[in-house]
Amino acid sequence: KAVPAKGFAKMSATGNFQAYDFQRHAVGDDEILIDIQYAGICHSDLHTAKGEWGAIDYPIVPGHEIAGRVSQVGKNVTKFKVGDFAGVGCMVNSCGTCEYCKKGEEQYCLKGNVGTYASKDYFHNDELTQGGYSNKIVLAENFAIKIPKNADMKKVAPLLCAGVTTYSPIVHKNVKAGDTIAVAGFGGLGHMAVQYAVKLGAKVTVFDITEDKRADALKMGAVKYVNVKDPAQLKGLDNTYRVIISTIPAKYDLTMYQKMLKLDGDLVILGFPAQKDLPSMTSGDILFGGRRKISGSLIGGIKETQEMLDYSVANNIYPQVEVIPATASAIDQAYTNVLDGKVRYRYVIDMQTIK
Ligand code: NDP
Ligand code: ZN
Repeated sequence: KAVPAKGFAKMSATGNFQAYDFQRHAVGDDEILIDIQYAGICHSDLHTAKGEWGAIDYPIVPGHEIAGRVSQVGKNVTKFKVGDFAGVGCMVNSCGTCEYCKKGEEQYCLKGNVGTYASKDYFHNDELTQGGYSNKIVLAENFAIKIPKNADMKKVAPLLCAGVTTYSPIVHKNVKAGDTIAVAGFGGLGHMAVQYAVKLGAKVTVFDITEDKRADALKMGAVKYVNVKDPAQLKGLDNTYRVIISTIPAKYDLTMYQKMLKLDGDLVILGFPAQKDLPSMTSGDILFGGRRKISGSLIGGIKETQEMLDYSVANNIYPQVEVIPATASAIDQAYTNVLDGKVRYRYVIDMQTIK
């Protein structure tokens, strides 16, 4: 039977969060129920909930950085037992039969994956999915990630999106010791990208729009920090980086970063600003960029997410988090702070404190 859940939803693009009681579908034979302990606040939650990427259906319970404990399993479940720790990222299902799903690249499912929130679940009569700012979630066991017992749960949550989204291109672009690379946007995603790249031995430059994060970036192992607001700091950087990872969620100059690539270098776009702020470039910019490559990257597949999680825990690579209580006003305040550049570096809601 259906599972009662409590959470926090926005009822419109402009409204505040409100306490929201709703139901999760019954735990199917291949599904598990997770009692959510922690849910990270990703900038994608803000973009989506405010309709910045296009109109969505309300109510919306955001949250795709979920860590918790399994409290019920369907009869065919083999990967989890009650009491195990489990995580959920940006997807709760996918077609499972297309060429990309078969390769473990469910994020590129040809039918479209079922997103953790604001998505139509085509396995459950197109019900609107609801995310992690809630106390319970039901999903296919194949889309849940195993979390080792010794992991720090509040810091594990953001790995499920910020972790894998940065780990994936770093692995795919073969970032290695001695590489000169850059990370643009030093926030939730950016500070994970820096840690993974530094761990691999790369020389990392960080770009952001403030002086306030310089010390943190250097402490995390970056060799250089550039405040793009200061033109003097941008001098002499053309033709420098083999890989640049952009996590910028606002309007910015794409060609500036393209020019900073070495020939055959890669600019990987992770940040997805509001539609009205999307940076653009012309075919002329691309042509004169020569063999400098620009591509995007979407989260990571389930197998890769598990690999990232095991790697992060084993190497003690975690986000820096600020835990907030499970109240609507605390979430509203966190959203304001993310936009004001005040978060260090990921808010995590302690869902166990929900009333
Ligand atoms: P955060 O807000 O935590 O971090 C963004 C960082 O970029 C902040 O440090 C911000 O600075 C900085 N920034 C803003 N403008 C500029 C600029 N012009 N130049 C350099 N830095 C800038 O966001 P997240 O890390 O959570 O998410 C980043 C983006 O990635 C979002 O658009 C999100 O939707 C997207 N995303 C994409 C995914 C994918 O699969 N590709 C997955 C998850 C997220 P300040 O704080 O000072 O304002
Ligand atoms: Zn995210």
